[in-house]
Amino acid sequence: MAVNTSNSLLNRTLYIPQMSYEGARCMAAAFQSIGIAAEPNPPGDSQTYELARKYLAGDECLPEAVTLGNFFKVAQSEDYDPARTAFMMPTSNGPCRFGHYLPLAKKIFKERGEGEVMFVGPSSNDGYEGIGGRAGDLVRTGWRAVVAADALRKLLLKTRPYEAAPGETDSVFHVSLDKVCRAISTPGVSHKRRLDLIANALEDARDAFRAIKKIDQPLKPLIGIVGEIFCRLNEFSNESIIRVVEKYGGEAWMSDVSEWVWYTNDEEEKRLIDAGKQLSFKMLGCKVKQSVMRADERRLLKAFEEDFSGYEEPHHITQVLELSKPYLPREIAHGEMVISLGRSIWYWQKGAAGVIDVSPFTCMNGIICEAVYPKVSRDLGGFPMRVFYFDGLQSNLDSDVEIFMELAKHYAQKNHARRTCRA
Ligand code: SF4
Repeated sequence: MAVNTSNSLLNRTLYIPQMSYEGARCMAAAFQSIGIAAEPNPPGDSQTYELARKYLAGDECLPEAVTLGNFFKVAQSEDYDPARTAFMMPTSNGPCRFGHYLPLAKKIFKERGEGEVMFVGPSSNDGYEGIGGRAGDLVRTGWRAVVAADALRKLLLKTRPYEAAPGETDSVFHVSLDKVCRAISTPGVSHKRRLDLIANALEDARDAFRAIKKIDQPLKPLIGIVGEIFCRLNEFSNESIIRVVEKYGGEAWMSDVSEWVWYTNDEEEKRLIDAGKQLSFKMLGCKVKQSVMRADERRLLKAFEEDFSGYEEPHHITQVLELSKPYLPREIAHGEMVISLGRSIWYWQKGAAGVIDVSPFTCMNGIICEAVYPKVSRDLGGFPMRVFYFDGLQSNLDSDVEIFMELAKHYAQKNHARRTCRA
């Protein structure tokens, strides 16, 4: 077995966890653009929990079990070489169990005698040795990858419930995703050129989605999907809840990944203000970074103004936080619970017929939101809001969603004029 002791991503294959399939594909393409052999981690299947369970104590949250189980699937493959393997593993310092993922993964792989496996975070310096000055390029392309994946998912979800030929939207989605990933991964081009290439691929995607033959029927009840970021995006973890919503006559609109990025940016600014550093080089850096990100996002989404009419995103994350404020102010609550709450009201304002909060079992975000949603629902005239918990075991998802959709349809009938238009 070849040994690679270097703290470098070069000469390794980097596996990106599939929070969403399209997100992992686009992020892998971003790494490919700077010469890293990156690919999405295998998706979850019946082996995932079996492999993870051998190493877990049982109190880990679902995203941790799914991510680790899928890493072990890589480790089972015939050509696996720990010295040539790297896993992307973001981390955080907060109270949430997310901060446990990385130390636990490192410990387990070490115990397995595979300590040469490398773990890298998207913003850490680990593993970027050898990339030289390209880490900055990666961050910028990575942001564009997030925006592009969000746009494709939005197109998919707003189109599929109305397709005349079952399966056509999924096919168009996959072809479009391939084209967008090719644009993101193009090596040796300037930032400006890459932005144009991705924007052009997204325009092609828009046209392909527009060309899908739709059934002639009124708009379906719109269901906002909020909740824990991994669980809501990962089809394996949430048992494809969006397809179940569609099966029972709904249309889903899921909160973007970019929303979380904007929230963390805003929190960074807030921390600087709280520390009296409103006028500082750090604050200037934040502002410059955000203005570059905003410009890239505007350019990539320019083509969708008409298509996303009725599905507009807030101009600034503070709009979501303001909506959350009467129930869960950001000063006393943090993270996904605040966003899920505010975003639920945003969906209501856009004419949604209900909100589903997708949460891993025992996750504090879902538990706290579940305590607050009844008050929000009452204030919004009985707006259907429900937390669906997932723990990797069989559930009554089908019948529970069916009941929820009946409530949402009833609510939509009472409030029929509120939803705007579908391009
Ligand atoms: S938010 Fe909840 S489910 Fe997600 S990592 Fe944290 S504890 Fe786990």
